[in-house]
Amino acid sequence: MNGNDMQAAKEIVMILRSEGHGAFIVGGAVRDMLLGREPKDVDVATSALPDDVARLFPDSKRVGESFGVALVEILGAKIEVATFRKDGQYSDGRRPDSVEFCGREEDAKRRDFTINAIFFDPIAEKFVDDVGGLQDLHDGIIKTVGNAHDRFQEDFLRMLRAVRFAARLDFKLDAETALAISLHAAESLSIAPERVRQELSRMFTGPHPSKALWMLHQVGLLQHLLPEVDAFFGVQQPPDWHPEGDVFIHTGMVLDRLAAPSETLAWAALLHDVGKPATFMIDETGRIRFNGHDEVGAKIAGDVMARLKFPNDVMSDVMEIIGLHNKMHYCADMRKSTIRKIVGNPLFPVMIELNRADSMSSAQITDGYVHFLDFIIAQDGVLKLPEPLINGRDLIGMGMVPGPHFGAILKRVYDAQLNGDIGDRESALALVSDPHGDV
Ligand code: ATP
Ligand code: MG
Repeated sequence: MNGNDMQAAKEIVMILRSEGHGAFIVGGAVRDMLLGREPKDVDVATSALPDDVARLFPDSKRVGESFGVALVEILGAKIEVATFRKDGQYSDGRRPDSVEFCGREEDAKRRDFTINAIFFDPIAEKFVDDVGGLQDLHDGIIKTVGNAHDRFQEDFLRMLRAVRFAARLDFKLDAETALAISLHAAESLSIAPERVRQELSRMFTGPHPSKALWMLHQVGLLQHLLPEVDAFFGVQQPPDWHPEGDVFIHTGMVLDRLAAPSETLAWAALLHDVGKPATFMIDETGRIRFNGHDEVGAKIAGDVMARLKFPNDVMSDVMEIIGLHNKMHYCADMRKSTIRKIVGNPLFPVMIELNRADSMSSAQITDGYVHFLDFIIAQDGVLKLPEPLINGRDLIGMGMVPGPHFGAILKRVYDAQLNGDIGDRESALALVSDPHGDV
């Protein structure tokens, strides 16, 4: 939110009122204000028809034409001003086929949850609550406005919004609301994958992500939307390494430990052990093992994210991080060149934060993490990989015929450079000429 948003919304309400229209601040801004939180954006609802809004705010732009919403720019803030409306039939479980303009009370009734349907009059500084939102906010309850079954049937996305708000605000789902979600959970598959992704990403990058994970499992949404994650439940781990419990518990703890995660980091954390259920085995000594769970997991993560229509770059980053996450724990055994390549990877900041959260959410063995940090300090904080001392032109200059073998030669020389075995061009060239040079 822009610091001016509340003031700008108040200004808009005053202008609308001066023309005799009803006008209020409504929705998330009122809820967040009452909770003492910073709202994401401030919305105004009014009895003024879209043409009146356009006349009073000539520079405003209409957004969502048929829904009667205008974007008003005032005091450097952009505020959505929506005409009170009730929604018509929903034939696709997503968007109403039509809307009809109406009074404030009916506008409150079309809103998803009671805590999102409180109106605030910024001039009288009074709340107007037709649906018991203030009480539910006080009690910490997410409850649909009206009959829960009907409201979810109109728009199944609301099932995910319910969990998102409950997790983020640390609220409970009202019993009837939770029951209706359980009964309609399978219908979450009819929600557009992009919208599912957006809701889930907001849950896992927001406060209390493990609460969202638990709740999604409990109401049965996880089983349909992310069956690969639901499968974590009850997958045992070696107690010496994972005293915290099964893969589900561990994953929730990792998510909770991330500091302000990006979408990439949150999904890498959610899916870092997604290969564990498939690779679970007990070896001859009776120890649980998950051999190759990193590479198997990277592939499964790719399937999950393709299904949710993630952009390719986010998906391939998450797959790369998952494929490497387990090796990161064994930094102490790595060659210097390998460590430098990991540290020089543009994804390193994400990988090391996942490594920290992963280690701290199990036996708290942070040897790998500490070793990486020591290494970076020893390099004066330089992460970037150096330019290679020689390239293909140098090989041609030595009379060699270009071909696929160039790659292998240059890699051997570059690894020697990263290991610190050679430090200048001459020694690099000498290494190429040395048939026994296997540094
Ligand atoms: P935040 O922006 O912090 O996620 P919000 O409550 O402001 O939360 P928005 O998506 O910005 O959520 O929507 C603004 C308001 O519009 C909501 O508070 C709610 O009253 C109403 N609303 C939004 N989406 C729906 C929906 N799918 N069904 C019914 N009402 C909705
Ligand atoms: Mg909002």
